[in-house]
Formats: sequence, C-alpha cells, structure tokens
Amino acid sequence: RRRKYMALRDLPSATRDQARISLNMNAGLLIDMQHLDETGADGVGLYRTEIPFMVRSEFPDVDAQTWLYSRVLDVADGRPVTFRTLDVGGDKVLPYVGAFGDDNPAMGWRAIRIGLDRPAMLRRQLRALIQGASGRPLSVMFPMIAEVSELLSARRLLDLELERAKRRGQPVPERLRVGVMFEVPALAWQLDSLLPHVDFISVGTNDLLQFLYAADRGNTRLAGRYDSLSPPLLRLLHFVVEKVRPAGVELSVCGEMAGRPVEALALLAIGVRALSMSPGAIGPVKAMIRSLDLNEATGFMNAALTQPDRPMRETLRLFAADHSI
Ligand code: PEP
Ligand code: MG
Repeated sequence: RRRKYMALRDLPSATRDQARISLNMNAGLLIDMQHLDETGADGVGLYRTEIPFMVRSEFPDVDAQTWLYSRVLDVADGRPVTFRTLDVGGDKVLPYVGAFGDDNPAMGWRAIRIGLDRPAMLRRQLRALIQGASGRPLSVMFPMIAEVSELLSARRLLDLELERAKRRGQPVPERLRVGVMFEVPALAWQLDSLLPHVDFISVGTNDLLQFLYAADRGNTRLAGRYDSLSPPLLRLLHFVVEKVRPAGVELSVCGEMAGRPVEALALLAIGVRALSMSPGAIGPVKAMIRSLDLNEATGFMNAALTQPDRPMRETLRLFAADHSI
C-alpha cells in the first residue's frame, strides 16, 4: 500500500478528465517539512505556527522565530508555504499565554482575538515572518476571523511591520499574499466585503463544523454525531465556492475533512480545487483524484445537494465504489 502511494508521488495530481487539483500538506514542526519531498505535495497549505510555541516553556523571541520561519522556507525550497499566525487558546494551550478562565475556550479569547488585543505579540511574529522570508515570497494567514474589521486590523499590523523593515533597509517579501481562515460561519455572510481584501481563503472545517453544529470538536461523546458529509455543511461550502471563484481569490480546504478520500471527493465535486492535509493523507487522496471523473462527480453532487437533508456519506461511498475510486 505504502509502495503504491510512493509510486504516485511524482505523478500529476489531476482527475481523469484533466482537472488539476492542488495538493498540499499541513505542517507545524520543522521535522514535518521532510514530508514535502516524501509526498510530492505542491506546498504547505497550512503551517500551524503555534505548534513550535507549544513545546517551549516561554515565548520564543523574534530571533528564534525568524530562524525557524527562515528554515521552513529553506526546506520548502521555493514551494509555497502558508504561515498561519498564532492560533492559541481553544484546544491549543500555551503555558505562558492565553485564557485560562474561559468557560468556552473554543469560543473564547483565542487566535486573532488574542493577537489583536496583544498587538505587540502579533507584530513580533509578523516581524519574524518578514525577516525569515528575507525577500522571498511570503503568505500570511490569519485564524478565526469572524469580522472583516479583524482582518483589516491584522493587515494594518502587517503593514506597520513592512514599513519598519523598509525603514531599516531590510528586504521585504518579493510577493506577499494575505489570507484568512474561514472557520467562523458568520464570515459566509461578509464575503462581499471581505474578498477585495484577501488573496486567498482557507476553510478550516474542524472549527467550521464545530461552530456550525454547536458541537465541541474535542468531545468524544459527540464524535461522529454530526456528519461532515451532510447537506448543511456542503451547501455552505458550495455557497462559499460560488462566491469566491468569480472574485479570483484562491480557495482551499485545510481541515481534516480534506484528508479523507470520500470527503475530499465531495469537496472537489462542489468546486474546491485545492486541498491541504496531513502528510499521510496525500497518497490516498491523490489515488482518489487520479481515478475520479470530476465532471460526473459534479453532476452527481449537484443533484444530491437538492435532495432532502439526509447524510450523504453512504450515497457518496456507493458512487465511489461504482466508479472504482
Ligand atoms: C480547522 O479548524 O479546520 C483547522 C485547519 O485549524 P485547526 O485544526 O488548527 O484549528
Ligand atoms: Mg481551526
């Protein structure tokens, strides 16, 4: 099996009807980066910068962060890396920063909310990203954006750091891309005002599903209770795809859903063309992509989405089996 996936590494990530799908991996530690070569991923769609912070006993200073981001880009060797700014709080606790008294940590003081309330901390991270890039292209993604104004405030901090670098004669990224995670449902109804301000959007289905169904993603009693392959989530994502596409903004999905072949099939069938997943999922998902007739899957999905609100997992599994996917 492993050998089969290894053999796929250098083959294109394209469907039988020649739709090119961008396949990326999620990473968080420097050691994860070795999987880029191993899997043949196009790049890193989600670099979770909080992971290296979690293994330390104190906040890494700008130099330590700069070194790390620079190394990540060295190893990526020109392949794109999307750095997500700190997403702490919620299920990712740092011993030295964050909220400990929140009743609902996932909905509490976390991610960009901390960043905007502690701008010096976020600015140090942005400074380190700019310094680490040292003139190379840089993609920065802000987590848990719930209102457009939060993105604009975060962007302002990024601009301040760019100006600072220029003032000091330091190189600024040759190409800067700024994007947001779409994981708070409210953002769906602000896309018209958001889209002019972003280069890309990445859907975090782990949090999105949790907030859409009001179901704690870490609660084992609820695990499997609400299916990601259900019309509410897929219709929401379909709506987002249709909104984002004409704006020319890149859209990808980086939640766990993207790394499961049947879920990934559903995502492609509603119009998603870029996925990011844990490295081990790249092989199985690429195998699915290469045996998929996307045109047919799209027709199947469009019909399925108009059906009553039943989970679609079984139907999609049968579709996959019928088409030897
Ligand atoms: C998500 O919420 O789907 C996501 C990719 O981010 P994280 O799992 O780090 O919250
Ligand atoms: Mg998330």
